[in-house]
Amino acid sequence: MHKIAFIGLGNMGAPMALNLLKAGFALRVFDLSAAPLQRLAEAGAEIAERPADAVAGADAVISMLPASEHVQRLYLGADGVLAAVPAGALLIDCSTIAAATAREVAAAAAARGLTMIDAPVSGGTAGAAAGTLTFIVGGTAEAFERARPLLGAMGRNLFHAGGNGAGQVAKICNNMLLGIQMIGTIEALQLGVASGVDATVLSDIMARSSGRNWTLEVYNPWPGVMDNVPAARGYSGGFGSDLMLKDLGLAAEAAAAVQAPIALGALARELYRRHSAAGHGALDFSSLREVPAG
Ligand code: NAD
Repeated sequence: MHKIAFIGLGNMGAPMALNLLKAGFALRVFDLSAAPLQRLAEAGAEIAERPADAVAGADAVISMLPASEHVQRLYLGADGVLAAVPAGALLIDCSTIAAATAREVAAAAAARGLTMIDAPVSGGTAGAAAGTLTFIVGGTAEAFERARPLLGAMGRNLFHAGGNGAGQVAKICNNMLLGIQMIGTIEALQLGVASGVDATVLSDIMARSSGRNWTLEVYNPWPGVMDNVPAARGYSGGFGSDLMLKDLGLAAEAAAAVQAPIALGALARELYRRHSAAGHGALDFSSLREVPAG
């Protein structure tokens, strides 16, 4: 398996595709935007004009798109992947989307004799660049094993969560917790700084105390505490607040379906909704402290 079609070269997709190139896979890439295509071409990828051209002759297809509707259109559309991909190719969608959509697209693929897995990721843009992502896979155990060499070139921890859609369920649980933790970390830092404690000193203390968590230690939201995080560059790049809002919406849908109580998840969703409505949706999700009250 060496000819790979990679579709969706945004903040996550571009560094993931670059790691596949580094590992020696031949890549044909497609995105709606020209800038990342150019970057990938310079690194040795072939540019396709349409998704159907990208997947022609491919051994595997990897997609990394924003949301459910993009994945549905890409795979099921008239000029989409399922209509053009060769029999026997493995389909891997790494986007974070609704579990129901992942199951729907995988079922349509299966009806054409194709194997598909959902393989959403965790680890952020830094993990994507470093090739240390966590992949959370839904699909058969056999498909998971087939995908292993590809996922291993982009990530370090590979989990098989269960059948199709299970990867998305696990990912949504993780991201709901991440959103809640980010808001908690921002609140704690805001309180400490307003009370006269230095943000770096406070972060250091909490990172070695019981408030320890990923948003504090790896992705600190306070400008000046860490280099190479969105807070150090005006909250550009990273994981957009609108994408976090989408994930919290997916968590709310999933919770409604099984009547799971998610009081904090719902509150986090409301705070990100306000942040987005105030015009900050494109900023990284660690920018939430600028949220207006009420
Ligand atoms: P992004 O908005 O930076 O990139 C999405 C890319 O998809 C863009 O380049 C866009 O042009 C392209 N695109 C959209 N529709 C397309 C289509 N029909 N055909 C081809 N290309 C198309 O998003 P991202 O931050 O890279 O996130 C991608 C997915 O990964 C999302 O589902 C997100 O929730 C998830 N995710 C992101 C992060 C993160 O830290 N950014 C972390 C984990 C998971």
